[in-house]
Amino acid sequence: MRIVDIRETAIPLKSTLANSSFDFTEMTTSVVAVITDVIRNGKPICGFAFNSTGRYACGAQMRARFIPRILAADPATLLDERGSNLDQGKIFTCMMRREKAGGHSERSIAIGTIEVAIWDAVAKIADKPLHTLLAERFNGGKAPAKVFCYVGGGWYWPGQTIQDLQDEMRRHLGAGYAMVKMKVGGLPLEEDLRRLEAVLEVVGSGDRLAVDANCKFGREDALRYAKALAPFKLRWFEEPCDPLDFGLFADLAEVYDQPLATGENLYSTQDVENLVRFGGFRAGRDVIQVDPPQAYGIGQYARTIDMLAGHGWPRGALFPHGGNQMSLAIAAGFGLGGAESYPGVFGDFGGFADDARIEGGTISLSNRPGIGFEGQARLYRIMRELAGI
Ligand code: MG
Repeated sequence: MRIVDIRETAIPLKSTLANSSFDFTEMTTSVVAVITDVIRNGKPICGFAFNSTGRYACGAQMRARFIPRILAADPATLLDERGSNLDQGKIFTCMMRREKAGGHSERSIAIGTIEVAIWDAVAKIADKPLHTLLAERFNGGKAPAKVFCYVGGGWYWPGQTIQDLQDEMRRHLGAGYAMVKMKVGGLPLEEDLRRLEAVLEVVGSGDRLAVDANCKFGREDALRYAKALAPFKLRWFEEPCDPLDFGLFADLAEVYDQPLATGENLYSTQDVENLVRFGGFRAGRDVIQVDPPQAYGIGQYARTIDMLAGHGWPRGALFPHGGNQMSLAIAAGFGLGGAESYPGVFGDFGGFADDARIEGGTISLSNRPGIGFEGQARLYRIMRELAGI
């Protein structure tokens, strides 16, 4: 058994949306195909992944370093003990050869995306959904049938009215979701509060609504927003400030009683440990949203969960960023708090299996082997073309 080839291509997201800090018009993602020599139903088993949304394609590092290292390795050294499957831990170690400590995001996205594609192949070779395989390895075999799932919406877009925003939120609730998130920080505070109150009218109560400032604020504005948001008792206040400003996070945690959230812009276990050590993040209250394919992949995510457990953090406080089939499988397999969803937002890269059902705020899981991209017709067409299958 061996990896025959690993291919990567950059695909534009084609999104016109914006949050408080940037728009998505130039955004691309790297799609990866790991092609194995295992033949099933007449075709080679291939693992797929992409590097979620909100960052750019990272093919240069993949092509220059990580793919050649894997393909140059003796294939027998990349297999599990019985030689019956790929060993993603050994492949991760192989990719990390000759890499210096620190500087994580320069490589964590490229490595993580390949690593998640390897997991897809591993689960397919084992003929199991990835969430089942992860539950067996990391959660005592407890794989749920459905996962809590909320909508990341409430974007800013040209010409949008309050009525449009309320209609959007009504659509989400009508589709079966029970919690939504909206952007803040893209307008003056007073206007943002009008948007917020309008959305609260639709969703009913603060615990069904989170807000996301996408790292927009400096100290003064972050504290001003925290003070203004506090009375609404929101589910969480996400990314008020720079993701590495642990001092400001700690100050916010002093004055803002409701949950804070961050993590989608942290790329290593050490960064997350610094957040909980020095950022004032409160176990049992706040929310951590690491994006596994962007932070060295699933194996590293498991180490982050273990580290957090050592600091008293329950898995229910973890909501992997991404809004895609990968983060859903990870949320289900590890027994996390839930997943997010971006219905109709990121073209072929947002969303879940075409036959996924949203009901009572939860999403059903697919029984397809692997991550289950095969259930997303438009996305899978891109992946299949890349792999040539
Ligand atoms: Mg966010």
